[in-house]
Amino acid sequence: MPTYIVLLGPPGVGKGTQAKIIAERLSLPHVSSGDLFRENIKNGTPLGQLAQSFINKGELVPDDVTIGMIRERLSRPDCAGGALLDGFPRTTFQAEALDALLAEFGGQVDYVPYITASEETLVERLSGRWTCRAQGHVFHEKHNPPRQPGVCDFDGSELYQRDDDRAETVVRRIQVYFQQTEPLIAYYRARGRLHEIDGAQPIEKVTADLLAVLGR
Ligand code: ADP
Ligand code: ADP
Repeated sequence: MPTYIVLLGPPGVGKGTQAKIIAERLSLPHVSSGDLFRENIKNGTPLGQLAQSFINKGELVPDDVTIGMIRERLSRPDCAGGALLDGFPRTTFQAEALDALLAEFGGQVDYVPYITASEETLVERLSGRWTCRAQGHVFHEKHNPPRQPGVCDFDGSELYQRDDDRAETVVRRIQVYFQQTEPLIAYYRARGRLHEIDGAQPIEKVTADLLAVLGR
């Protein structure tokens, strides 16, 4: 049976950072809705054009568009054994759609590690985040600096600061998280899938807690 893991938590808590590490350890593809949108924007696709205005304002991209994109991604052969989902689902409607989709694939949401940190920590992490153009690797100018400023350690591509990591947009994204995504905590807790993890710890400690939750 395929294994599906959903990483839940507010913007900036460290989902992407952990997803890259865990996906490699578990040999599962890292499926990041944010990365998929940014790839579409970079390639100038109609999906990217539609998503961009929402992303720039810190709002969620409409559910139907987002679900369609994830359905297509999870249908690809590399996801036959499951996937590590990062940034999806973000609304109750998306969570219900995911349950239905995984049932089609003969699977289910197996684990939902829920990573937490204070709002102050989130703002500080997002404002110091540098993202790699090629593959979305992330660094932090203070907590997780690249070996060479402005250059990705993993693929040598340029690091940039995301437009939506500007202070005004960050505040809106965190608000949107509390309004639209927080209900998923109760959704997955009721289904016995939720595992809370303290995201304020150093990266290595968060990884160790995650692996313990996943029984690895
Ligand atoms: P998310 O995907 O949840 O938005 P990221 O993984 O992109 O979060 O991390 C946000 C920022 O915080 C990045 O700059 C990253 O390097 C940094 N970061 C991630 N985890 C930690 C941690 N445990 N301690 C300090 N900084 C972290
Ligand atoms: P972060 O890593 O900081 O949490 P993401 O890269 O996951 O941010 O998301 C960036 C933006 O992409 C979001 O603010 C939102 O506009 C859009 N987005 C990503 N995932 C979803 C989703 N599941 N539903 C709707 N919009 C999404």
